Amino acid sequence: MVKTTMANTLGQTRRVLVVVAHPDDESFGLGAVIHAFVRRGADVDVLCLTRGEASTLGGHTDLGAVREAELRRAGESLGVREVELANFPDGGLESVDRLELEQRIQGAFARTAPDLVLVFDPRDGVTGHPDHRVASEVAMKVAASHGIRVLGWALPVEVTRVLEEEFGARLCGYPADELHHALEVVRDAQRRAIDAHASQAVPGSMLWRRLELLGDREYLRDLTSQV
Ligand SMILES: [Zn+2]
Repeated sequence: MVKTTMANTLGQTRRVLVVVAHPDDESFGLGAVIHAFVRRGADVDVLCLTRGEASTLGGHTDLGAVREAELRRAGESLGVREVELANFPDGGLESVDRLELEQRIQGAFARTAPDLVLVFDPRDGVTGHPDHRVASEVAMKVAASHGIRVLGWALPVEVTRVLEEEFGARLCGYPADELHHALEVVRDAQRRAIDAHASQAVPGSMLWRRLELLGDREYLRDLTSQV
């Protein structure tokens, strides 16, 4: 396999399909990476598999609708071309028939013809949420059937250790040699996108500390050969 640098990847990628589980994953997790591709001229489309209705934050009666609207505004902030929401159960992707998930993701592939797929790293779904893991695994399987490259957003273990200590969270962190790409990012668009998710981006949350610890870097793993 030819090892391409991230600079080459950014320059050569025309169409990116982002597959995530929840509204806010595209911003809180992938926002700066998505915007890096947009800035280099790629068309980026987002498929979000749930409407995020199971969140305990926000206190809205129709949280699914609120979060859908937030996701669409966040997409605009990131420069995303199109946002598609599926209506699989938030918190329940593990129990959805895999074939149904595959078909929905296949549909997004057919519409957007991506040359690169971007997901959360599947190991523990970065944050331990099973929905993240399932969304990534199914997207990787569909990408493999098309021979399309997949990059997974991941965190360095130096960062997850601090977050685990300070917040008591359980996170998946990787040592440097398992993080294949370090990407220099600017976070202004991501911060605007995070602001769009008003029901979820609560002050004092781990998100802000993570961004502080990551600074102007994000890390990606090459997942293409892992299916
Ligand atoms: Zn999520």
